[in-house]
Amino acid sequence: MTYVITKQCVGCYDAACLSVCPVDAIDGPIAIAELVAVPAAERGKRFPGLQMFIDPDECICCGACVDECPVAAIYMKDAVPAAHREDIARNAEFFERREKR
Ligand code: SF4
Repeated sequence: MTYVITKQCVGCYDAACLSVCPVDAIDGPIAIAELVAVPAAERGKRFPGLQMFIDPDECICCGACVDECPVAAIYMKDAVPAAHREDIARNAEFFERREKR
């Protein structure tokens, strides 16, 4: 089982989830160091449409990121709302593509 970040993440830029994950299972299309180096209020302009994802092979289902997410974008895989079910595959595909780089 794994947790999944849904598209509700887009436009948030809080990044609190990143700091609480004990296994660094959360990543995105830009380097985390690059993201957090930019003040939160400026991240929307700098990284429009940015979404973070959870690696299903690394997530240990601790739930820590769920409590930190200010937009309630993170769900247990089996509890992802119907409107966001496609995000389960999007999370896995992000890490499959990244491994091919
Ligand atoms: Fe990381 Fe825990 Fe969230 Fe999984 S549930 S992504 S291990 S903080």
